[in-house]
Amino acid sequence: MKTVKTNCPICNGKKEDATVTFTVDLGTNLIIIRETPATVCSLCGEEWISDKVAENIELVVKEAKMKNRMIEVVNFSLEDVA
Ligand SMILES: [Zn+2]
Repeated sequence: MKTVKTNCPICNGKKEDATVTFTVDLGTNLIIIRETPATVCSLCGEEWISDKVAENIELVVKEAKMKNRMIEVVNFSLEDVA
């Protein structure tokens, strides 16, 4: 994954590529997506995700809503939608 290396707009810290656990709280459903590729500030911990990753998360959320699970825990995978 290529990311533009700029400093954090919040604290001016260094951004680093990492995988994070992304949580989507829909009120009735809680979706936890592990191993999500993200850019994380090494200083304040702020997280950014790419458009491609955001698209995938949207699909995961849609799927979880259809299954109507209270809690859905999945591992992020680009292959699922490729
Ligand atoms: Zn920061």
